[in-house]
Amino acid sequence: MKIITKPLELKEYLSAQCKTVGFVPTMGALHEGHVSLIRNAKKDNELVVVSIFVNPTQFLKGEDLDKYPSRHEADTKICSISGVDVLFLPNREDMYGSDEATLQAPKVRGYVLEGATRPGHFSGVLTVVMKLLNIVNPSKAYFGKKDAQQLNLVTLMVKQLFMSVEIVPVNTVRESDGLALSSRNMYLSASERKDALKISKSLHLASRMIMENSLNVEEIKLKMREILAPLEVSYVEILNRDFEVIQKVEIAKSVVLVEAMVGNTRLLDNIWV
Ligand code: AMP
Repeated sequence: MKIITKPLELKEYLSAQCKTVGFVPTMGALHEGHVSLIRNAKKDNELVVVSIFVNPTQFLKGEDLDKYPSRHEADTKICSISGVDVLFLPNREDMYGSDEATLQAPKVRGYVLEGATRPGHFSGVLTVVMKLLNIVNPSKAYFGKKDAQQLNLVTLMVKQLFMSVEIVPVNTVRESDGLALSSRNMYLSASERKDALKISKSLHLASRMIMENSLNVEEIKLKMREILAPLEVSYVEILNRDFEVIQKVEIAKSVVLVEAMVGNTRLLDNIWV
């Protein structure tokens, strides 16, 4: 596995390879969810690039930028064992200048749900994804459905800016008890870890209600909130796959989303129904 830290060196290296490139952008502290993205990329492409970059512009003031988990050695080993060809580890100075053009997330879709609790977060996400895609120039880039709004906005950006990469959604990987894998799960104490299960349980309930043909969005959200209590819930929402408000679940065309604080840790999860 080749490790590259300089954006222009990576760009030159990849263009000399003349191979189809699959790209998996991450912030590190890798787990089985990330490995699943890598496996999908390996299946579809001749060469796989993984980036690890804790992007400062997507963190708001007071968020966990400085204490975001960093597992450099373990991450390198995971990438190498998973068959990653190139690990890209840029530093902040090489990714950002002091005064530069940035992308602005869509004024509506980028400022609801997670964008409402973290205003400006998605502008940072889109800016860094755009930079990374321009450096790697992949045929396909892999994003987890776990971050459904991010996936939606990146897919929209690629379409609206007429970019030629294909965005490939990958299913959420969970622990055996249902908790969605997340780098931030490391912050949870044993009792918080237990409380966090309320999130996947509430989603499970929603999917059961929908299977039983109980499709009223408000009723489902109410029942979910009963399970989620007493967690501090940022939002419980059921939307169509374009992230538009609906009154009645459209089967196989909707997504149920939850964001809640468990202690000081913000966790999100969703199911596609
Ligand atoms: P992160 O390192 O948290 O920025 O995540 C990097 C990529 O991994 C994103 O596309 C996430 O959606 C994806 N991802 C994170 N957790 C999971 C999971 N449990 N299952 C599948 N993909 C995930």
